[in-house]
Amino acid sequence: MYVVALSQPCRNPAATQSQQTKPYMQSEKRKKQIAILGSTGSIGTQALQVIAEHPDRFEARVLTAANRWQLLAEQARQFMPAAVVIANEQHYEALSTALADLPIAVYAGAEALCQVVESNEVDMVLTAMVGFAGLAPTIAAIRARKPIALANKETMVVAGELINRLCRQYEVPILPVDSEHSAIFQSIMGEVSPIDKIILTASGGPFRTFTREQLESVTPEMALRHPNWDMGAKITIDSATMMNKGFEVIEAKWLFGVEPSAIQVVVHPQSVVHSAVQFADGAVKAQLGVPDMRVPIQFAFSFPERLQSSFERLDWFTMHDLTFERPDTERFRCLALAYEALHRGGNAPCIVNAANEIVNRAFLEGRCRFLEMADIIEKTLQKATFVKQPAYEDYLETDAEARRLAASLLSPQ
Ligand code: NAD
Ligand code: MG
Repeated sequence: MYVVALSQPCRNPAATQSQQTKPYMQSEKRKKQIAILGSTGSIGTQALQVIAEHPDRFEARVLTAANRWQLLAEQARQFMPAAVVIANEQHYEALSTALADLPIAVYAGAEALCQVVESNEVDMVLTAMVGFAGLAPTIAAIRARKPIALANKETMVVAGELINRLCRQYEVPILPVDSEHSAIFQSIMGEVSPIDKIILTASGGPFRTFTREQLESVTPEMALRHPNWDMGAKITIDSATMMNKGFEVIEAKWLFGVEPSAIQVVVHPQSVVHSAVQFADGAVKAQLGVPDMRVPIQFAFSFPERLQSSFERLDWFTMHDLTFERPDTERFRCLALAYEALHRGGNAPCIVNAANEIVNRAFLEGRCRFLEMADIIEKTLQKATFVKQPAYEDYLETDAEARRLAASLLSPQ
């Protein structure tokens, strides 16, 4: 069994022997049974492609969605999970009617999301739902000792300290799915020395070269056209503001136990170097590849093994220019706000996440201008109640308060 043996300060939650050995030894005996939270989304559908490519290794045990019950029913018919959950209870009747002829249990509601991941039959939970809503089912999965394939970065942004504590208590590994964190994880595999510095690459999004004046008038349609990645709407807008990269800094801090000052964001528009790690001797290890989320998803599923794939390979002779730039936190203030939240600590990242969810949605719906998003997040961070050592309930209260505050700061329509 492959074991990453890093020293305490830079250990990934996936990296201790006791955490790793148990779940992987168990799963070797049979196909890994995977619960996908958010199977109808960008990550969820790509995860199902990975499962379909490896029917001898993986099975979809549980599939869930928020609203798209028709697609969920189609997926259930194809993958025959034991259970499906539709978070929006209004669609329960339609979904259960659509699946009436199949031996698939159908549930609805947010609580059911937490319950299905606890099933004895589930070997791994892929958290591919969006936003704060991912926190409760992730905690339920950890308490049930299920290894987590973590796509839902908002969970680590909101409550990274709590999640790490629970992972230690229940001896649960987290396998990163976010491409940058998967790259960092792959770069530290086999290392016994601490990380000196993380080089977190960022595409820079669709507005990388825009002036502040140009940013004044960008539209949701423009923001939704990401140059390199085809992702869900929320994360695509977060990439355009670079809040996504700010969240990834916070995610990296908690996953790899490094201080924010040791995380350098580097804009790399080609998205070939997925991230890198520098060590004490100055050596840098990076993971490269064609931008394709199925690679990190598959690796989270198969870790510590690598499985054959038909995914596109890097063509070294067409990569003429790999470029690297310093990020501009004046034009992309959301990145600076995420760092500020990290420095403040406590519930500050939770406040920023909640405010961001409100302004992100408002921008998509044409109720907020692009540059206004950072203003509202900053004001919410100043106004919301600060809690230095939040418990789970504090996160719920903070999330609700910050959402109210941010919504009240939106210009009346
Ligand atoms: P998406 O919008 O395409 O899909 C989200 C999925 O979650 C859908 O199945 C939806 O039905 C479900 N969902 C949304 N809200 C829910 C709720 N309140 N309750 C239950 N289910 C809910 O999103 P995505 O782009 O796949 O992103 C999913 C997560 O993965 C996000 O946290 C994102 O930051 C992260 N991530 C995505 C990518 C990517 O390439 N798309 C890359 C890295 C990280
Ligand atoms: Mg990413």
